[in-house]
Amino acid sequence: MERIPSKSADLSEWYQAVCYQAELVSQAPVRGCLVLRPYGMGLWERLQSELDRRFKETGHENAYFPLLIPESLFAKEAEHVEGFAPEVAWVTEGGTEKLAERLAIRPTSEVIVGVMYAEWIQSYRDLPVLINQWVNVMRWEKRTRPFLRTAEFLWQEGHTAHATEAEAAEEVARMLEVYREVAEDICGVPVYTGEKSQSERFAGAEHTYSIEGLMPDGRALQSATSHELGQNFARTYDITYAAEDQTLQHCWTTSWGMSWRMLGALIMTHGDDRGLRIPPKMAPTEVVIVPIPRGDTSALDAAVRELYARCKAAGLRVKLDDRAGQSPGYKFNEWDLRGVPIRLEIGNRDLEAGVATLVRRDKAVKEDGQKQQVPLAEVVEFIPAVLEQIQHSLFAQAKTFLQDHTLATLDRAEFLRLLKGRAGMVDVPWCGLPECEAAVKDATGATTRNLRRPARAERCVPCGEPARWQAYFAQSY
Ligand SMILES: [Zn+2]
Repeated sequence: MERIPSKSADLSEWYQAVCYQAELVSQAPVRGCLVLRPYGMGLWERLQSELDRRFKETGHENAYFPLLIPESLFAKEAEHVEGFAPEVAWVTEGGTEKLAERLAIRPTSEVIVGVMYAEWIQSYRDLPVLINQWVNVMRWEKRTRPFLRTAEFLWQEGHTAHATEAEAAEEVARMLEVYREVAEDICGVPVYTGEKSQSERFAGAEHTYSIEGLMPDGRALQSATSHELGQNFARTYDITYAAEDQTLQHCWTTSWGMSWRMLGALIMTHGDDRGLRIPPKMAPTEVVIVPIPRGDTSALDAAVRELYARCKAAGLRVKLDDRAGQSPGYKFNEWDLRGVPIRLEIGNRDLEAGVATLVRRDKAVKEDGQKQQVPLAEVVEFIPAVLEQIQHSLFAQAKTFLQDHTLATLDRAEFLRLLKGRAGMVDVPWCGLPECEAAVKDATGATTRNLRRPARAERCVPCGEPARWQAYFAQSY
């Protein structure tokens, strides 16, 4: 196994090395695309199942809309098309035939969903429509950074239609809260929630809300968004319904999405110099059993197989690494690299003493509590509590980092210096004006991440105009 670079020395090098060496992904022959290997897919499936369960609990159903969108439909919503035009990939030929109309490969699906909703929705009785789809989308991109920046990526997109603005606003807030919960309680990534500024808003939306994490290099990572589309798409695509009083009304629509970017946030937030550290609730493998054979191994073989069966029966996601020809030390490093939360080691002497050694991935080597001996008879019952502790400790470490790197100031010079130095989330009263945000971006490379009300002082820190918001500024991915 190659050594991975130190995380603190160069986050970007470390990140790439971990993604490839832990076998999450491989490079594809097409630039900007990525092969998700089984271990990476395992992570995505964990995220998917946690989100999907919550979508269904909040009344949504899954459906599937096509990959291709005719240009004439796509071009109808002017602001939307202007926002996405630079990154749309087009299909111009089918077989040997040149197409009469170009087809967009979906960069997102508001358009095709809007066209169908116009057909499906007639009456107030048809509302609300609450649909999600799990798909790939494409936004042309030449650079490849696993999970963070790729031309094709996996995500879910929810699309809903409502009778009133208030219901649509409620939906958007509800789904933002689902994202916050999955980011923090499942992925262990603490986030700030809030509204996006006008220039950071989704193309065609009235209001966009986001969750934003902070990565170890002081850059923010937007991890999910939830949009109030107002009646913009409903007007463009004629999504109307007959109200109880028989008047014809436009629907209020929303959309919301989380992509595999969330995995990038998880990897950067928790990893260390030995590789990934995966929060148990997200771990494709929660426990790996590694026997340490010496001499006659028949008793040990039987004991580890029995232990493996007991773990499985208890519902744990467990692997038994009994590969011949690899040393235990090699296996330890490999499972460390893959970030499996708990390793159980058993040698002949442990077996005689009736114990296993339990090793926690969230702790540093030789840190207090990293290793402990647990009676074999009790180990399976012991594991869930340890997984719970690991989940909490990873979140607590990340939360401390976020708090330590969230800085408030009322001084303009200090504000600019903090942003240029990538000090973290810089929390200031802000005016909300696009030209003010553009000037900060020119000076520092940073933008607002998200906003909330009220402002904590009268004046905008960057420009001195009246403050309307309290804003987190940061450089971002
Ligand atoms: Zn300002």
